[in-house]
This record gives sequence, C-alpha cells and structure tokens, in this order.
Amino acid sequence: MALTGIQIYKLLPQTNCKECGFPTCLAFAMKLAAKQVELSACPYVSEEAKAQLEESAAPPIRLITLKSNGYEVKAGNEVVMFRHEKTFYNKPGLFVKLQSSALEEEVKSLAKRIHDYCVNYVGIELQVDGFAVEDDTHQPDKLKATLAAIRSVSNKPVMIFSDYPENLGPALEQLDNEVPLIGCATSDNWEKFADLAKRFKAALAVKADQIETLAELTEKIKGKGVEDLVLVPMGKNLGHELMLQTQLRRLALKANYRPVGYPTLAFCSSQAQMVQAIAKYAGFLVLDAFAEDLLYPLLVLRQNIYTDPQKPIQVQPGLYEINNPQPTDPVLVTTNFSITYFSVANEVESSGYPAHLLVTDAEGMSVLTAWAAGKFDAERIAKAVRAANLEEKITRKRLVLPGAVAVLSGEVEAELPGWEVRVGPREAVDIPKFYKQVLQVN
Ligand code: SF4
Repeated sequence: MALTGIQIYKLLPQTNCKECGFPTCLAFAMKLAAKQVELSACPYVSEEAKAQLEESAAPPIRLITLKSNGYEVKAGNEVVMFRHEKTFYNKPGLFVKLQSSALEEEVKSLAKRIHDYCVNYVGIELQVDGFAVEDDTHQPDKLKATLAAIRSVSNKPVMIFSDYPENLGPALEQLDNEVPLIGCATSDNWEKFADLAKRFKAALAVKADQIETLAELTEKIKGKGVEDLVLVPMGKNLGHELMLQTQLRRLALKANYRPVGYPTLAFCSSQAQMVQAIAKYAGFLVLDAFAEDLLYPLLVLRQNIYTDPQKPIQVQPGLYEINNPQPTDPVLVTTNFSITYFSVANEVESSGYPAHLLVTDAEGMSVLTAWAAGKFDAERIAKAVRAANLEEKITRKRLVLPGAVAVLSGEVEAELPGWEVRVGPREAVDIPKFYKQVLQVN
C-alpha cells in the first residue's frame, strides 16, 4: 500500500533544512505522497528510509514494455479498478497468433496483412500491435524460420510460445536489440524459462490456473533475477477467467500484493473472450486468428475504454472544406468533439453536397454539453467566423447552426450582422434532407 504523507514524513530527516525547495520536511512529504516530486530532491534521506520509500513508490502493477525496431507495446502501471475513477493508461496490446507449422510463404503473406491492417476511427489510426508465434511443431528450426518470415515483412514486436524452452534459443538469437515476450513458464519448466529470459533480456509469461501458483512462481522467478513478468491466469471458462483477472487486479491494487503486481495476458479464441479481456483487465491479448470483421470493433472498443474520460478526443478547431465548396455555399457550424465532427463531416461528404464546416473550439465537448457548459455560444461562434476569415471568403453569407442549439440563432444574428442564420437538423443523419428541403440544393 502506498504510504501517506505522515508515514513518509516519519522516514525523512525532519530537519526542515529547505534544500529540497520546500519550507518543511512535512510539506515535502505531502508532495511526495501525491507523486508530485522525486525523492532524490532530498539529499539527506538515509539508505534504509530510501529503500522503504522506493518500495512504496513502485507502481502496484509493473510496467512491461515489449520492444522491437521502431515499435513499443506497454502494459501495466494501472492504478484503478474502474476507468471512471481516473483512467486506464496502457491499451492492451493485440497480438495475432501464427503457428510454426505454417508454410513460409503463408506466414509472410499473413504477417504482411496483419502488419498493414489499419482502420481510421475518428481521425485515429488503429492497428494490431504484433505477432505471437506458437511452436506447434516442436521443432526449433521451424520456429526460427517462422520468426524470420515475419521479420522479412514486419518489425512489430513478437511473443514466442513453446512447451519446450530449449526450442526458443535459435529463434531468439535472430532478434537484435528487441524485448520479446516468451513463455509460458509453468511449475514444471520455470527454471529453464527464467534462464532464457535472463540470457535474452526477454519478458517472461507465467502460466497457472490458480492465483496461489502464479504468486509462488513469480517469487521464485524473481529470485532468479527476472523481474519483467506477465501473468497468464488460465480460467476454465469465461466466468472463471473474469474472476481470476478481477482478483489479480484487486490483489495488486488494493492489497499491494507484489507477487501478482504484473500485467496479465489472455489467450482468446472467441469474440466474447476478446471483449471481456479488453474490458477486464488483460495487458496483452493473443488472438487465435486474424479476422478483420472482429478486429475493427475490438480496436474501437479498446480505444474507447482506454481514452481518458477527462480528456475528450478532439479535432483541431478551424475551417474544413468538404466536397470542394464555392464562396456561395453554406457554412455549417459544429464543435471540436471528434465524434461530433466526424458524424457531421461524414454525412456531408457522403451526401456530395459542398460545405464549409466551421469547427469551433469547445474544449472537445459535443454540441449540447458545450452549450450547457458555456463553451459553445454566440460569441465563440462569431469569433470562429472571424478567425477563419469567412467575412472575406464567403459571398453568400449563410450560417447553419446545429438544431440542438436553435436557441442561439438570435444571439448569433446579433453578433454577425449581414449573415443569414439558419437552424439545421438536430441529427447529422438529416443533413442531406436539410440541403434538399431547406437550402433547396439539388
Ligand atoms: S531537503 Fe530533506 S531534510 Fe531538508 S527540508 Fe527537504 S525533506 Fe527535509
């Protein structure tokens, strides 16, 4: 459990020498408890106190970073059970399984498709994070060749899984300056895996169907000098998997139980498993197969859960021209909340009607929320019109407000003399009908 300010104060020299930049040791202790200063700012902390303070300052779930040439996938460092308490930090890495029994050309072609797969969601590019190679032939040469085939088309991080740790050496020797994940260490083979992880500086996955066994294994492996561990709790079914994942997160966060203070990995073969693992609480997912129709909703789900609820996804405020608008075409107004922007922009674009889309700075809020918070009003809209130089650019001055803020039309007219202010539809889906029926554009 993290120490309180008073507990930290008791470990400090209590001389109030001010060298840390604070007037008293107590003030410094309070800042340290809030993680707003570094312990190193006090030069007089004893070695014994340092050890205690550093232990309490360590994150309850260790940060594990898998690396390859140009890529990094992080898991861990989470501090809450529920996203609304603060935020979740590191999106679970999505890795697609490839088997060593596949033909080299098949591996290359599939790995290339996985590498290139990219979807654009509200302006954010979402992709798969890497590859999980399974030694299903139990032949070191085949494993090595599979990894080489992947590396010929992609540099994304890899995981390598085998029941026989001795099979992994030749494959791992090919990886230059990378941090892969290897596994899975069990009660039967953990020593060999620990030696291998140490030799190749790899992170190590540890597998068991009980939390007690996982905790025993991590302590033994840590004793061998391997600290970058990932837990693989093997549930009997979906419900059991959820229970294990939740208990592990609880033990790490609420009881600060260090033996399970590591991110987890889930092997997923069904969509339900994938969705559950993203929501609660896997740090890495290994997907059984590459299926684009499953990946798209999964990537979007992950993006939404791992977005800071206090920082909405935003687009840059300003003027966006859609379908090559002329100076006589209307100006549509909206806010810079990404989902609002893309709903409007996509409807206009697919309708084929031209528009100047004026996106105001509403601190990333949607139209009604921004209006209620005083971030989307006549003054701001008028300011955005002037900032975009629309007085000069537009010859037929028509401004279309979102239907949800029809109440603003009078004030906007007063702020923008010479502009014809129209009230548009409440829903973006009705924009084409509005063009046809109200603006009378064919
Ligand atoms: S430098 Fe250390 S001893 Fe001096 S006031 Fe700060 S915390 Fe106290």
